[in-house]
Amino acid sequence: MTSIRSIKGTQDILPDQSHRWQALEAAIRNTMGRYGYEEIRTPAFERTELFARGVGEETDIVSKEMYSWTDQGGEDLTLKPELTAPVARAYIQHNMGGQSPTNKLYYIDALFRRERPQKGRYRQFHQFGVEAFGSEHPEIDAEVIALAMAVFNGVGLSGLSLKLNSIGSPQCRGDYRDALRDFLTPHLNNLSETSQNRFEKNPLRMLDTKAPHEIEILKDAPNISDCWTQDDKDHFDEVCSLLDAMGISYDLAPNLVRGLDYYTRTTFEITSTALGAQDAICGGGRYDGLVETLGGKSTPGIGFAAGMERILLAMGDDTSTGHEPHIYIVGLGDTVRPTVLQLAESLRQNGLAVAFDVLRRSMKAQMREANKAGAKYAIIMGDQELESGQAEVKDLSTGDQQKVALDDLSSHMNSLSF
Ligand code: ATP
Ligand code: MG
Repeated sequence: MTSIRSIKGTQDILPDQSHRWQALEAAIRNTMGRYGYEEIRTPAFERTELFARGVGEETDIVSKEMYSWTDQGGEDLTLKPELTAPVARAYIQHNMGGQSPTNKLYYIDALFRRERPQKGRYRQFHQFGVEAFGSEHPEIDAEVIALAMAVFNGVGLSGLSLKLNSIGSPQCRGDYRDALRDFLTPHLNNLSETSQNRFEKNPLRMLDTKAPHEIEILKDAPNISDCWTQDDKDHFDEVCSLLDAMGISYDLAPNLVRGLDYYTRTTFEITSTALGAQDAICGGGRYDGLVETLGGKSTPGIGFAAGMERILLAMGDDTSTGHEPHIYIVGLGDTVRPTVLQLAESLRQNGLAVAFDVLRRSMKAQMREANKAGAKYAIIMGDQELESGQAEVKDLSTGDQQKVALDDLSSHMNSLSF
């Protein structure tokens, strides 16, 4: 019979990798705690309408990447392709804004997008991110960006670059949309079908093009900063000077507009030179219009989402599993078995990591296993040792060996350094 395989674009995270995920997750939670962000968890699926309204019909995500279906009760549902809309939905539904003027939230979660799988691009993948509701002021923009950088620096990512822009207020975007259309009208016939569609529906997204001849044309296009209002400019200038004050360097990126419709003002992206073509590890920005779009009271917000698979790729491999046992108990013969398990249990309850053989292998094979597992000490116990009331404790790094009375074993092992 043929065996059943996983779905293309999904990945099993096996024990040789799961310890790396745990380390990344622990670093994220630790940093979030220091910045005062609290975790929010939302369901794996939502009403399709949430994403249609909250993310926007013309975005890649909604127009072609969602896993959607109609369930047996006739409801249109979608596996979450992003977290900002679900978090905003929960924020509104639970009146979080009514309970506290600001809410600083974070998540670590799995997402689903039907994309063409390749290195760093999967159909089920993971993001961590934050959403901070309630303040329109530049200090929260600067804090959110600093937080993202703190996580990446904390896990040792190198070659990071932060790109920063402002797409202004809705009025500015409207003006810019017109300016961009005016500029591109004479070039329309030279544009790809995708860009022509975007020209109609959402001209700002044309700036996302990867086609070299379009990039060339766009070089002379107007910049969104030409359309900033004075308030937009002041806001952006202050974000920049707060980042300067914190010693966070950034590059201005006039073409960085992001694909999602609800963004306003600050927008940013963080890339890593440790990655290949898929070099974006984090995207974020301000979305002052989102909560109202989803039926809540007008509330400013800012957040980012970072791709965890890409962060782990950029972090490179380390060889430690993080789960090496402290002690490996080598048990020989049938009579020692209860003693081995009882000793393992008592050491484990005292906080030590203990392994023992469950295949009834030879002494030699068990010692090989102890070394392979990376144990620091082996306790060797056979019928003879049991009879004489003693066991051998071997330091596997130095090879030193000593006899210890069975009654003293627990306290002896607990007194060693690991
Ligand atoms: P891209 O331009 O690479 O498609 P995006 O604009 O769709 O990115 P966002 O929706 O902003 O990305 O998601 C934030 C981060 O999530 C990205 O910077 C990336 O690290 C990660 N990410 C996005 N899509 C995928 C995917 N299919 N597989 C793995 N990681 C992803
Ligand atoms: Mg994408």
